[in-house]
Amino acid sequence: MQFSNEEWFTKAKAVTPGGVDSPVRAFKGVGGTPRFMQSASGATLTDVEGKKYIDYCMSWGPLMFGHRDAEIEAAIIDALAKGWTYGTASPYSVLLAELIVKEIPCVEKIRFVNSGTEAVMSALRVARGATKRTKIVKFDGCYHGHVDSLLIRAGSGLAEMASPDSAGVTPAQAGDTIVAPLDDEQALETIFKTHGNEIAALIIEPLPANNGLLPQRPEFLKFLREVTTRYGALLIFDEVMSGFRIGFGGMAEETGITPDLITYGKIIGGGFPVGAYGGRKELMDLVAPQGPVYQAGTLSGNPVAMTAGITMLKKLLNEKPFANLQKATESLGKTVEKIAAKYAPYPITVQSHGSKFWMICGETKGTVRHINQIPPEHKERFAGIFHGLLKRGFYLAPSGFEVGFMATVHTSEINAAFATAFEDVLKEQQ
Ligand SMILES: *Cc1c(COP(=O)(O)O)cnc(C)c1O
Repeated sequence: MQFSNEEWFTKAKAVTPGGVDSPVRAFKGVGGTPRFMQSASGATLTDVEGKKYIDYCMSWGPLMFGHRDAEIEAAIIDALAKGWTYGTASPYSVLLAELIVKEIPCVEKIRFVNSGTEAVMSALRVARGATKRTKIVKFDGCYHGHVDSLLIRAGSGLAEMASPDSAGVTPAQAGDTIVAPLDDEQALETIFKTHGNEIAALIIEPLPANNGLLPQRPEFLKFLREVTTRYGALLIFDEVMSGFRIGFGGMAEETGITPDLITYGKIIGGGFPVGAYGGRKELMDLVAPQGPVYQAGTLSGNPVAMTAGITMLKKLLNEKPFANLQKATESLGKTVEKIAAKYAPYPITVQSHGSKFWMICGETKGTVRHINQIPPEHKERFAGIFHGLLKRGFYLAPSGFEVGFMATVHTSEINAAFATAFEDVLKEQQ
């Protein structure tokens, strides 16, 4: 494509901040030049220099069946041929909503927006509207999109920055947010004792996966339901990444916990920009035009995006790939650990849940459940492994704090090739 990755990066930096549309893509966490991808198919990304990579980032999660899945592609093209935005009521979003409401018991009504960020922002507004309270409890290391009031100790791109908080967030916005540590019932008990009657909602990624993968104890998640109910606050599950990925019904289904509100994104749009928030009927009926909580969107319910989402979700219901993906992910994790035990001068463990995995480079004691347990050397060591793999044609998310995603296109042959490349990288580093 005429220019090299390096040249595209120079061009991009001249006209956009950092040369990217979203921070982590700039490779700041691993160093080097980001690869500018020009096309993709199945498990493979192709950059502007024609080099191919096996992709374990999968556009940060949405692509359960890989790039350009034939069924989804055909549905998109069909929808596109009829028109690509109507700005009216239309059946496409109704069909997607019906499908979700039928399959997910805690979602009685749902509203579509254009990103996970918007979904979270809107859910918080509903929670505040419903409870007439102002404060929100979030967790250290949980990311909920770039909502002002939640850009505090949020992980994702912020995990790589000097300050865990974003500039440009006013003290007033930050002041309504209470940050709690993960995996700590006592801390929450204290927070609710002090602020209980001011807290509108507690929001959590029930499977935190934006600051490494930090699985929470089921009892801890159950405690969140109990303490919020006790104090009349709402429980919001941010399932933008876990919903439809670790299982169709995400963590709500897996844990049997019923949140009051739930947010979706990533997978729900089949690779198009879609987010959604939903929950109990009486809460969702607070949303305009039914109720007083305003929320709107010029391109919301886009017919092409809705079609991609419907096709993705139907395919997930039909093919139920979740158990096989989990098996493949666990098996790859074990293989990586075994190879590391042979060659790496330090321990490497892989934490996985469903089709998400995270490699930890350094000494750990038991399951890593909160950010303080991440070894300080992890970031630099991961960068070395990342570049070794990239050179050999394997693309992981370019940050030690982001997770990997397995899709159905990652065949056992592909995963075996990954293991061989990984072994090669460690041998080279010796
Ligand atoms: C990705 C993500 C978001 C933000 O979604 P965008 O579509 O990037 O705005 C919110 N919450 C969680 C848990 C996410 O993983």
